[in-house]
Amino acid sequence: MSSLTVSISSPHPTPLEVLGQVFGYQHFRGPQEAIVEHVVAGGDALVLMPTGGGKSLCYQIPAIVRQNAGHGVTIVISPLIALMHDQVGALLEAGVSAAFLNSTQTFEEGNQLEKRLLRNELTLLYAAPERINTPRMRGLLASLHERGLLSLFAIDEAHCVSQWGHDFRPEYRSLSLLHETFPDVPRMALTATADALTRQDMIERLKLEDAREFVSSFDRPNIRYTIVEKTDPTRQLLRFIESEHHGEAGIVYCQSRKRVEEIADTLLGAGIKAMAYHAGLDSALRQQRQDRFLREDGLVMVATIAFGMGIDKPDVRFVAHLDMPKNIEGYYQETGRAGRDGQSADAWMMYGLQDVVNQRRMIDTSEVASEEFKQVMRGKLDALLSLAEDTRCRRVSLLHYFGEDSQPCRNCDNCLNPPEVWDATEAARKMLSCIYRVQQMSGISFGAGHLMDILRGKATEKVVQYGHGQLSTFGIGADLAEAQWRSVLRQLIANNIVRVNAEAFNTLQLMPDARQVLKGEASVLLRQQSLASKADRPGRGSKKSVKTSVKGLAEASLNAGALERLAHLKAWRAEVAREHNLPAFVIFHDATLRAIAEQAPKSLYELEDISGMGTKKLQAYGAEVLRVCAPTGAAPVSHAS
Ligand code: ADP
Ligand code: ZN
Repeated sequence: MSSLTVSISSPHPTPLEVLGQVFGYQHFRGPQEAIVEHVVAGGDALVLMPTGGGKSLCYQIPAIVRQNAGHGVTIVISPLIALMHDQVGALLEAGVSAAFLNSTQTFEEGNQLEKRLLRNELTLLYAAPERINTPRMRGLLASLHERGLLSLFAIDEAHCVSQWGHDFRPEYRSLSLLHETFPDVPRMALTATADALTRQDMIERLKLEDAREFVSSFDRPNIRYTIVEKTDPTRQLLRFIESEHHGEAGIVYCQSRKRVEEIADTLLGAGIKAMAYHAGLDSALRQQRQDRFLREDGLVMVATIAFGMGIDKPDVRFVAHLDMPKNIEGYYQETGRAGRDGQSADAWMMYGLQDVVNQRRMIDTSEVASEEFKQVMRGKLDALLSLAEDTRCRRVSLLHYFGEDSQPCRNCDNCLNPPEVWDATEAARKMLSCIYRVQQMSGISFGAGHLMDILRGKATEKVVQYGHGQLSTFGIGADLAEAQWRSVLRQLIANNIVRVNAEAFNTLQLMPDARQVLKGEASVLLRQQSLASKADRPGRGSKKSVKTSVKGLAEASLNAGALERLAHLKAWRAEVAREHNLPAFVIFHDATLRAIAEQAPKSLYELEDISGMGTKKLQAYGAEVLRVCAPTGAAPVSHAS
């Protein structure tokens, strides 16, 4: 028996019919169709798709099609219990019977759920990985399997199984048991992490060697990448938010809990609606803030990386990094949380010499990591440093890292405001020879600040104390600003020409490659950095035109009548969302409301054609939407049949 409450026109709907009638979309996106067909037919799949690419439909549609064909339930393994409520809520809104297993459920509730499963009444069941291995769950899975009611396992955020990824969850390791116990049940693993090492590890750990791989383009064309030099972080952040994203939802990532609290306070002080989120907060408070972020418009979440996995809020307009992440995978996953709705969004990162030193130190001084692990982490950090220093298109570099070739994007800081490049070969040689001479004279190495003082000819107490004023390199770099010296040094560190020795007070040491530069065999070209660097002002001038062309359906293009309808629709949606205790975007996306406001449909028939309007939602809300849209006083026209 079909448990779909929504009326699908045929008893055995095709994937395309499900896409249109349940989710209200006309076309599959990218590789979705191929993935869905492969899984519907019982194949195993590994799906690599960027955040916002549309992974959920890749298992939800096969789940619906297969359940209608009598195969039973799809088990979705997802790491975040806190978000299952909303995920299941969204499915129920679309008319799909779904539920989640949760440790807060009573024994009786668990029993009810089991009965529904054994009667083949559920299409999707969400569970956390640690639940899969409880004796009760294993017993249940075995009973379902015996009855032929175990349709598919979908492992979401599958990179969590690998320690090379950035969200390692030991509980994921036990998922290999699924294949051992139920070898004939199809499985799919989904992730937005694409680096080769994690991918390989994931395949081995989850025993997906025979699964078909579906790799999408990792490009997120609507996201604008900007990386600025950190000079006065708080002021830079405030200026960025106020000038580019006033009143919009965003995430600000900071390295430490203390910093998170400070920045949240600063934003609040400046009149920006902000909240702090980190693992040091009590879990009820974290949950409450996460809910507020999802449900309320225009909030800024200031957080450590503890925040964000599985957050599928579509209208996050910016992700700002106040401190540099550990690697490109983390950076890409975090920035990917911006603009899931396909509308224009910003990924804005600040970085400075201190970030480089801190990250290096964290790796070098880790006591838990093996030398092999540290080596891998250093390589990953280096890749991110080169991205930050790069003068070429950011997107080309990012995609190249994920093994994709592309053309300059015209939607990143380097494309929009090509940075000036200066030849820093001479400066680099001065820096290297200064490091060398100081070490030779004193028998010990010194840190960055002291070396820059020597180069710039500052007779500080320390310079005098060690007699470094006598060095031939004293004062030879007075022509460059400190910011330029920092840039030179960062580049030298990024290219492994200089090493920061974390075990010896962050002193600077020459690496073998320094010889080449000293001998004049290699040249060093650097971005021109200054306090008023152009890259600091991402969208100046060209912003509007590019943003509008990416946006397509920008609010700016709506006429007065449409804007008024949109405001009414949003108010109505907020009301419904509150009643259902769900985020507003679960009821309808912004894009759907905008299309309704623009087209001003007069009948259910016209409404049905709008993207995002599935059959269940049309039944549940269609008449209301027409009433809200109608000119005040006029009665809505009913179904034109
Ligand atoms: P991911 O899990 O890959 O980050 P989601 O599954 O959350 O992405 O999808 C991102 C957004 O794109 C969602 O709002 C979803 O409704 C929308 N979407 C997915 N597939 C389609 C499609 N074929 N047509 C229109 N919108 C889609
Ligand atoms: Zn570019």
